[in-house]
Amino acid sequence: MMVKLLDLKKQILDIRPEIDDAIKIVIDSASYIGGSHVREFERSFSNYIGVNESIGVGNGTDALEIALATLSLPKGSLVGLPANSFIASAEAITRSGHTPIFIDVDQNSFNIDLNDLKRVLKKLKALIVVHLYGMPADIVKIQALCNEHDIKLIEDCAQAHGASVNGTKVGSFGDISAFSFYPGKNLGAFGDGGAVCTSNEDYGYKARLIANHGRIEKYNHLMEGRNSRLDSIQAAVLSVKLRHLDDWLLLRERQASLYDELLAPKIQKKINCRSSNHLYVIKSEKREGLRSYLEAQGIETGIHYPMSLNKYPFYKDYEGRCPVAEILATQVLSLPIGEHLKDDDIKFVANKICEFNKKL
Ligand SMILES: *Cc1c(COP(=O)(O)O)cnc(C)c1O
Repeated sequence: MMVKLLDLKKQILDIRPEIDDAIKIVIDSASYIGGSHVREFERSFSNYIGVNESIGVGNGTDALEIALATLSLPKGSLVGLPANSFIASAEAITRSGHTPIFIDVDQNSFNIDLNDLKRVLKKLKALIVVHLYGMPADIVKIQALCNEHDIKLIEDCAQAHGASVNGTKVGSFGDISAFSFYPGKNLGAFGDGGAVCTSNEDYGYKARLIANHGRIEKYNHLMEGRNSRLDSIQAAVLSVKLRHLDDWLLLRERQASLYDELLAPKIQKKINCRSSNHLYVIKSEKREGLRSYLEAQGIETGIHYPMSLNKYPFYKDYEGRCPVAEILATQVLSLPIGEHLKDDDIKFVANKICEFNKKL
């Protein structure tokens, strides 16, 4: 038995005719950048997330950079972020000329630790909150803290399409939010893609300008911007996939509950929170052994992420004491989850993990 972490070929099997049709329509229209396909996707995506506007951009990292540029913070502003994330969350801050402060994470939720956040709160001009693995961070409390201290709140939703708190989707809590449509994400394009979401009209207008050379129409440049746009073919693919996203989320939810049941991980499930279950992550003190054991059974696993961001040598001059994130980096293991798997695959993986733990 071979259980893969991700199988993009299998994922689109059922929807291949819909996708082929959508791509054909774009090719027939020969409108490859901007135009109705992008506008249509942006409209459905903002409806789905529950924001006034979404702007298609080149990728998730650009979405974070454009979100930061939209906020017009003074150069060198201190911007907080959790130390347990993909490097893009930090790159966006430094590449925008700001200074990151790494914040520790909670060992049960893997997300930003509120106490550590409170410690640095007074210094921050902005905060990037990551809904890691698809599990919403403590966003309602974080939003209140940011309001109280006049801190701009950016949500990094690259792993959390469709995740929600009390029925409200993540990506609609912050001043502005960033999504990635990298092929392996829960809503993935056939290449790079991303979106900036906001309900603030001024921010929406500005983000759109920045992403398209600072212009509202050809050669009418109102400011200097950059080129970061979502291609029409990607938008057409994403429009098709968005229609299936809720079904896929239900399936991932069922697989995650099955793992919960069989592995009984000591992870507090937050009530009122719905994860997008982008990754199913367990902790193991014997991670390397477990990983090889599973590999020998044909089970692929991943590590998200092998190093706490504050430990990278090129970030050593920035503030961040993150003991929990540093330990997690040695223990986290991502198990296969997703549309390409059947319940039997999940049971097989869980049984092999129990088998390994019994042998210890
Ligand atoms: C994938 C990811 C990004 C970056 O998205 P790209 O589209 O790959 O640029 C940013 N933040 C997090 C948490 C991610 O997982």
